[in-house]
Amino acid sequence: MEQQSIRKLKIGPTTEDPVHLAHIEQAWHRFARRFPLPINFGEKQFCCITSEGTIDGIAAAFLDEANSSDNCTIAVDWVRFTARSDSDQELTLLHECIHLMFMTGSLRQHTLDGYAWLRGWRLSSSPLVSLAYGAWSRVQEVMAELYLQAHYPSTGRERVAYLIGLANGSVLTDTGPFRSVRALIQLLQLDLLVRLAAGSSSEHLARAQELAHACELNLSQESLIPSADVEAFRNELSQITFEPMQYKVDCCQRVTNHILGLIPI
Ligand SMILES: [Zn+2]
Repeated sequence: MEQQSIRKLKIGPTTEDPVHLAHIEQAWHRFARRFPLPINFGEKQFCCITSEGTIDGIAAAFLDEANSSDNCTIAVDWVRFTARSDSDQELTLLHECIHLMFMTGSLRQHTLDGYAWLRGWRLSSSPLVSLAYGAWSRVQEVMAELYLQAHYPSTGRERVAYLIGLANGSVLTDTGPFRSVRALIQLLQLDLLVRLAAGSSSEHLARAQELAHACELNLSQESLIPSADVEAFRNELSQITFEPMQYKVDCCQRVTNHILGLIPI
């Protein structure tokens, strides 16, 4: 695996509060003491990332598009981040750094292609845009978690327990519109969890399979996305390996386009 370098990394909360910023900085230092970093950083700047507004999830990593050199950002949702244990916070930062390693390396084009279509939808407030991006970025998520499990094996069980906890809180209670699309994204995540849990514990594996089954039922309630394309994408994701790096994204494109096609113009 190539060892990339990032010229400049900005990291901080999506708020303007210096207390939040100090908290993220402390978490970063704990993280950097605990783990060998997956990527080299040149300049590092702790600052508030308010330009990004809200982010989906606990943290997000992205390339700064305006600059073709490798300037990157990790934005942290302070409320969700601090609701987690110190150890979960450290693993979250590790996960985001692994994203940056792939985004600046083998998955750079896939990342930039995602940004390109996302720009076209920037004026839409439909939640389907972020769900479509969720489908697009599954490739990144699978790569990041497989890499984390392989290169930081001592964290495997803890990481799977954390991801199962997140899935427990979201899979079974969803009754809103487009729940089948959300169920699809959750199912793709659970497929990954089943794969990770197979190397972790039988208890986690059973729970991941149970949640995946619940998602399959939710998905079967509405047929918004052709099931053949869903199955092809699931299969494509299940074949991903990163050493050697092997992935295909044809079905990713198709499923993303189906979701975007549901947005009223
Ligand atoms: Zn991620």
